[in-house]
Amino acid sequence: MRIVIKVGTQVIAGENGLSQKKIAGLMKDISYLVKRGVEIVLVSSGAIGAGLPNIPFSNPHRKKIAAAIGQPLLMHDYIREAKKHKVQIGQILIISDDFTNKERFSNFVSNIKAMLAHKILPIINENDVMKTEDLTIGDNDGLSAKVAVGLKADKLLILTNQNGLHTKNPDQDKNAKLIKKVSEINSKIENSCSSGKSLLGMGGMHSKIQAAKYATSGGVETLIGNGKEKGIIMKALGKNFPGTRFIAKKK
Ligand code: GLU
Repeated sequence: MRIVIKVGTQVIAGENGLSQKKIAGLMKDISYLVKRGVEIVLVSSGAIGAGLPNIPFSNPHRKKIAAAIGQPLLMHDYIREAKKHKVQIGQILIISDDFTNKERFSNFVSNIKAMLAHKILPIINENDVMKTEDLTIGDNDGLSAKVAVGLKADKLLILTNQNGLHTKNPDQDKNAKLIKKVSEINSKIENSCSSGKSLLGMGGMHSKIQAAKYATSGGVETLIGNGKEKGIIMKALGKNFPGTRFIAKKK
């Protein structure tokens, strides 16, 4: 079983920067599975969120500086927690060019596979400092979908602060109902979600649906679930996933 897990900033953020407790819980579950032979690749946001509280000044490069400060803080927390479970992690920072260049992409894939073969947990984030386009263009939802397809993963699990895709925006409409299964991502599905973004993350539900569309077209089942729900990663491996399941098109 090979699974790509995407963690949004909201899933690991506390009131001011990262939440040690949330990262500890996440790494506990992931480590448990890694040690039992599940191949996990983690795509984690959170660099900007971790860095921003350390920047008391205003500057047009503020987000980039935050990413530069926050990325090592993020990895520091992941390393500390993984160590407790005797799991080794490796960091991979990429920019979009790495995916459009065939040679670099196949290099990326083979290096990740080599890490997985040795039960090392790869943690991927976009190299925000090196990105040339505006920071809001790229997002880790799309990135995780590309990684999942490139690695021919069995599943892509996108963890967010919602229980999944709803018929309406659940923050605005209490009649919104969770959609448990999506076989086809049509315009009705695409229109059911807002493009609203969280304060620190880049994505929003719209970008998650686009990611699901890309991944399922590439043969990867995609799951969107609540990162706060206990045991959500274990549940994603089983049949009764509490969030939204997007059925993969045949490989
Ligand atoms: N790379 C950004 C970060 O680590 C987040 C991008 C996203 O949320 O899509 O803060």
